[in-house]
Amino acid sequence: MTKTVLVTGGTRGIGRAISETMKAKGYKVAANYGGNDEVAKLCEKETGIRCYKFDVADYEAVGKGIAAIEADLGPIDIVINNAGVTRDAPFHKMTLDQWQQVINIDLTSAFNVTRQVWDGMRERGFGRVINISSINGQKGQFGQANYSAAKAGLIGFTKALAQEGAKKGVTVNVVCPGYIDTEMVQAVPEKVLESIIASIPVGRLGKAEEIASMCAYLASEEAAFITGATMTVNGAQYIAG
Ligand code: NDP
Repeated sequence: MTKTVLVTGGTRGIGRAISETMKAKGYKVAANYGGNDEVAKLCEKETGIRCYKFDVADYEAVGKGIAAIEADLGPIDIVINNAGVTRDAPFHKMTLDQWQQVINIDLTSAFNVTRQVWDGMRERGFGRVINISSINGQKGQFGQANYSAAKAGLIGFTKALAQEGAKKGVTVNVVCPGYIDTEMVQAVPEKVLESIIASIPVGRLGKAEEIASMCAYLASEEAAFITGATMTVNGAQYIAG
């Protein structure tokens, strides 16, 4: 039977590339988003992928969103926890609000979504959870204490949950993209971006499709023995041990 995939933050950037790649592979795809209706409408129009608006930081809203998706497309077999934001500031200027927004949207979201599809995956004996972390969750980044903490948290979450899902056919993995050419990175000041590109041995930013193809592999039946893994996709900018 055709499997159903939920991609959080699936309407633009890396998430949209994941949504499109999964659709091209024959999955039923639900793309979630947070607030940008215009982009979501465009995504629906251009791809034919159904888009669902709910805040991944809000447990109840996620529950309602998942119920709507499952009513439309069937039980969710594969979750890609991709939605994320940055609220950068050096720590001495970071506010509690900046801290909480990033922890809630980038980390607690993974609990909110995964917890509400987990029982079904266990019962059906198949599931794929793919968390999108970041190079900056692996190595830390100046001005991103909140984001680095949230993204490192996703790596620990993955390692623990992989052990719980293993006997039930549910794999849990984390993908750590390096700098990928999306709006999030285009917002970085030009001079800073130049120095970032200079530090990438491959000599360029990554493409959203290069993250999507890793997710598609991890979601496949072939990847059943890969679980608890941290997959680094960063052009050798940071080589984790
Ligand atoms: P974008 O900013 O391009 O897209 C973010 C997506 O997340 C949008 O669809 C957005 O919806 C959605 N979103 C944001 N907040 C919420 C929310 N509260 N509830 C539901 N959806 C929400 O991000 P990228 O594509 O650049 O990044 C995707 C993921 O990859 C993120 O987790 C990011 O941290 C990670 N990453 C990105 C890197 C990069 O270089 N771009 C590098 C490493 C990791 P809406 O349009 O409605 O706002």
